[in-house]
Amino acid sequence: MKKFICIFAVFAIITLCFSGCNLPEKQSGDGLNIITTVFPAYDFARNICGDNATVTQLLPPGAEAHTYEPAAKDIVKIQNCDLFIFVGGESDAWADKILSSFDTPVKDLRMMECVNVLEEELKEGMDAGNERGSEEKEYDEHVWTSPLNAIKICEAIRDAVCEADPDNRDIYTENCEKYVAELTSLDNDFKELFKSYSGKPLIFGDRFPLRYFVEEYGLDYYAAFPGCSAQTEPSAATLAFLTDKIRSENIKTVFYIEFSNHTIADSLANATGAKTAQFNTCHNISQEDLANGATYISLMRDNLRVIKESDSNLSESPESIGTDDIA
Ligand SMILES: [Zn+2]
Repeated sequence: MKKFICIFAVFAIITLCFSGCNLPEKQSGDGLNIITTVFPAYDFARNICGDNATVTQLLPPGAEAHTYEPAAKDIVKIQNCDLFIFVGGESDAWADKILSSFDTPVKDLRMMECVNVLEEELKEGMDAGNERGSEEKEYDEHVWTSPLNAIKICEAIRDAVCEADPDNRDIYTENCEKYVAELTSLDNDFKELFKSYSGKPLIFGDRFPLRYFVEEYGLDYYAAFPGCSAQTEPSAATLAFLTDKIRSENIKTVFYIEFSNHTIADSLANATGAKTAQFNTCHNISQEDLANGATYISLMRDNLRVIKESDSNLSESPESIGTDDIA
């Protein structure tokens, strides 16, 4: 009898353990564990999940997205997450190798698969550097720079989290709806702004990761380098081309992007009397911006403001521009 009870107890413990072990690791109360590479994915996921997920961005604040390499602890984080969101382009090409090395597949979402991708463009006047003469066309990875693409990406994230955690489907759907309304209003504000825009090209004394943005709003642009270029010294021909453009089009503002040393924009401004201003491409944000609560929407609204201030058609008093003055 004693022996029987003992065997029964062991059996019960084993059954209990197995039924426990068979449950998915994340119970609805635990929340989802989401890992992202770049800032927009992080910001979209936290807006859609609210308190129902822990969202972690792998790129430390202030880190340059194109040179980031995951550490061993990052790979462990990806392996143990419920959803991994990445761009799917050249700057996080490492992710494909890592994902295919896992024995148990990790649920992933590629932002580039959420939208219609555009080929990288070598625009007139650009210094293509090593890409010069390359026949191979690559797709531009900066898909999030158009607010309408951001909506498509958010809807894909919503679908992925609903699948991973169906108990909270209603919450994710409602959060996504609210956030998409904010993105729609951002898009409408850009459309409204460009209705009275002079049509002058945007000039970037920098890399140009904004192909989707200019395509969306039908804008023209010129820049020193293509989107993901690691180049920092433009050729004399590129500098001369951009200087001529600024003069002939009577451009008031030369843009540089976040984390740039803006020396090219500064020298173009010095040569032409234009001002400079930062345009946020939102790959990543600085520690300071993060502490100040910056979001994809707030950074894009900063872009709206600098475009407005850069254009004499839009800005009421072009002399009082709040952007960086170049002496
Ligand atoms: Zn990039």
